[in-house]
Amino acid sequence: MQFVFPLPSPVVLPVAGSDAVFPVRRIFCVGRNYAEHAREMGATAQAEGLEPPFFFTKPGDALVGGDGVLSVSYPPATANLHHEVEMVVALGAGGVDVAADVAAGLVFGYGVGLDLTRRDIQARAKEKGHPWDMAKGFDQSAVCGALAPVATVGHPRAGAIWLKVNGELRQQGDLAQMGWSVEDIIANLSTLVRLQAGDLIYTGTPAGVGPLYRGDLLEAGVDGLPGLRARID
Ligand code: MN
Repeated sequence: MQFVFPLPSPVVLPVAGSDAVFPVRRIFCVGRNYAEHAREMGATAQAEGLEPPFFFTKPGDALVGGDGVLSVSYPPATANLHHEVEMVVALGAGGVDVAADVAAGLVFGYGVGLDLTRRDIQARAKEKGHPWDMAKGFDQSAVCGALAPVATVGHPRAGAIWLKVNGELRQQGDLAQMGWSVEDIIANLSTLVRLQAGDLIYTGTPAGVGPLYRGDLLEAGVDGLPGLRARID
C-alpha cells in the first residue's frame, strides 16, 4: 500500500521496568468522578452519585507522555488553563458490553496523568450547550507518565492521588473517593463504544483544580505508580 504522505509516528507510553512501549489508540475521560471536585465545579449534591458516568474524548495524538520532565506548551486561545490530576487506565484488551466483574481483566496497566482543560472555553461551552472538544481535546491536552503493568502493581483502588505546582500541594484525594469504580467505568463505556487495546481512560480528578502559567513545574503522583513531572512552556 502506498500512502500519499508518510504515516505519523505512533503515540506510545513507556512501560516501567520494560523496554517495550504501550501503543496508544484513543483517549476517553470521565467527568465529575470525585464528589468534592463535582462540588467545586458547581454540581448540586442531588446530582452526585445518582447519574451514570459521562465521557468526553481527546485525540490520541493530543498525548504528551513519557519519563522525565515532560514539556507541555501553554495552549493558544485560553487565559485559564487548568490542571486535573487523574489515574489513567491503559487497556491491553478490548470488548463490548463488558461485565463489571471481568472488566479489570482488560487492563494492561495504570499511570498518572493530567487532563489539561481550557476552563474558560469549557465555561462558555457549558453556558451555550456547546460541545467540550475545544476545551478538553486540544493539542497536548493529555499528559501521562510511564505505565505500571498490572503484573507488577496489581489494580490500585485506594491510595493517595496528588498534584504539586512549583512545590505547593494543589490537589489531594484518594482513589477510594471515586464515585464510579474503574470496573464500572469500563463496563459503562463498553456499552457506548467497542473498547480496544491501546485505549486510555482518564478516571476523573479530585478537588483542587486551578490555573497554570508558563514556567510552572508540576509533580503528580498516585500511590504505587510511577510519578509524573511536567513543565508548562
Ligand atoms: Mn478530568
